[in-house]
Amino acid sequence: MPTVSDALARLSTSKFRSSFHMSRKDRAYLEEKGPDVIRSHAQDFVRQKLAPAEPANDGKQTPMSGHPVFKAMHATACCCRGCLEKWYRVPQHRELTDAEQEAIVKILMAWIERQTRSEGN
Ligand SMILES: [Zn+2]
Repeated sequence: MPTVSDALARLSTSKFRSSFHMSRKDRAYLEEKGPDVIRSHAQDFVRQKLAPAEPANDGKQTPMSGHPVFKAMHATACCCRGCLEKWYRVPQHRELTDAEQEAIVKILMAWIERQTRSEGN
C-alpha cells in the first residue's frame, strides 16, 4: 500500500474519484458522531465489505451515499476488490491482511479529514 499522501495525490488526478464530496448531511453526521466513531465504522465496513477473499456482491457492495465512509470508499478507490487491485495492486481472491485493512482505513480517514477542512469551499 502507498503512503496516504501518495494515494491522495494520485486519486486527485482522476476526474471520477475527485467528483465525490461530502454533503451537508455527511458533515452533520460526522460532527454528531465524532472521528473515533467514524473510524470504527470505517474499520467495520472494510472488514465486512473488502477483507474477505470473496466479498459478497464484489463490485457493487458499496452504496454511493448514505454514510460519509461510503463516499470516502469511492473517492479513494477503496470501494471493491477490483478497484483495490487496480489502484493499489492488492491481489483479489485472498483475504486482506490486518496491515492492508489498517492502511485502507487511514486513507479513508485522511480523505474525510481533508473534506472536513475544505468546508466552505
Ligand atoms: Zn470499485
